[in-house]
Amino acid sequence: MIDDKMFFLLDCALCKSPIYVALFLLTSGCNCSPLLFRPHHLTSVVKEVQSNQETVDKIINLSLSGKAKSQSYNRLAEFTDTFGNRVAGSQNLENAIDYLLKNISEDGQENVHGEAVTVPKWVRGNEYAYLTSPRMYKMAILGLGSSIGTPAEGITAEAIVVNSFDELHQRAAEAKGKIVVYNEEYHGYGNTVNYRTLGAVEAAKVGGVASLIRSVTPFSINSPHTGHQDYSKDVRKIPTACITIEDAEMLARMQKRGTKIVIKFYMEAQNLPDAQSRNIVAEIVGSKYPEQVVLFGGHIDSWDVGQGAMDDGGGAFIAWQALSLIRQLGLRPKRTMRMVMFTGEEEGHFGGQAYFSAHKTDVNNYDLVMESDMGTFTPYGLTFDGSQKAKVIMQSVLDMLKRINATELKYVNNTGDNGDTGGWVNAGVPGVALLNRNENYFDFHHTNGDTITVQDPHMMDLCSAVWASVAYTVANLEEMLPRK
Ligand SMILES: [Zn+2]
Repeated sequence: MIDDKMFFLLDCALCKSPIYVALFLLTSGCNCSPLLFRPHHLTSVVKEVQSNQETVDKIINLSLSGKAKSQSYNRLAEFTDTFGNRVAGSQNLENAIDYLLKNISEDGQENVHGEAVTVPKWVRGNEYAYLTSPRMYKMAILGLGSSIGTPAEGITAEAIVVNSFDELHQRAAEAKGKIVVYNEEYHGYGNTVNYRTLGAVEAAKVGGVASLIRSVTPFSINSPHTGHQDYSKDVRKIPTACITIEDAEMLARMQKRGTKIVIKFYMEAQNLPDAQSRNIVAEIVGSKYPEQVVLFGGHIDSWDVGQGAMDDGGGAFIAWQALSLIRQLGLRPKRTMRMVMFTGEEEGHFGGQAYFSAHKTDVNNYDLVMESDMGTFTPYGLTFDGSQKAKVIMQSVLDMLKRINATELKYVNNTGDNGDTGGWVNAGVPGVALLNRNENYFDFHHTNGDTITVQDPHMMDLCSAVWASVAYTVANLEEMLPRK
């Protein structure tokens, strides 16, 4: 990795490739003669960025100690208290979207509208699981999104506990006719979530009649964590739910002692025909290049448990607040700031994909996409995916946030690959995501514990200030960010 502080960035005069220069030695760059270079105009862009410092300070002051202090938290608290959780396909989600369209309009934002998205409709219904042998015990469970239900009488069967897919395959002969219980250890969300998404399919392949997955979380107070799961076309569908870390470990201990484990499992879950939902769009239209866009957002849907305050109420509401702060300061950047609250994220980014499909012919006008769906705790910077030149510019934007210690720019490849803005990043648009102190994010993720109590007004003010400062500054530059 090249350290920008030790290197100068120049352009090749022939091919325009960036050239890194250290101590007058060319260290990387173009294929032309190393003597043909011209000073890069990045220095002037960085200066242009820095001219926004006073505005950034005003944004921070308004958010942290001015009229807007606690505003995004108070809005989110009222919203989550009023509507609770908002699963795709539910009337409650659509009522919540109507409420936001009205309130965001009344906040003075421009072009506030919904854009149609078709989303899956999965309904949980009643569900339970009892350990019936070696003792009677009611387990805490949550059915997984897209799971089918059990027959009306439920499924009562002996359980087999495995720690991994490998162990399941080794013991395949034992699994036939049983409820497969996964007691996989947590090794980070990305590494462990496969057990939730693929657990039922793998269990069905070896003749399992249902599957119960240890919740994908590092921490538990007997809390099950739901989430989406996938069936495979050629594999028999079996019902599937998550159980707690505590119960998964207990069942594993029982099996190790040679105890026969029997579970009665019941779920009414149903997959109904697709439903209509909407992405929420609102803007501050640019003064000079209104057709060019800096897009920022989070998702407005949630799972059907808790309040979806953290995932992703916080991300959606700091996006609204970014518009709100700029509006309250009476500012209008050169290009358009566009907020999008995506719908149908939890079932597989339905809103993000629909937005990209509807607008992708306009990709050349998208300057930067910004997503927050990993918590809105104390922010410390951004992840970034884009060109080296854009990275230098984005670092200079973050340098203006020294006062609030949000200056870290962490380069990642395909920042939006799994997010609602992934389509844009894959199409070459520079992308960022909010870096925040979210160490406890997966303790609450997809549980009944994801309520407004997890959120903090000051942290949301900090996140809103970062979002507004970055979006405004980039939207106000004379030129769009250079692409890869
Ligand atoms: Zn989310």
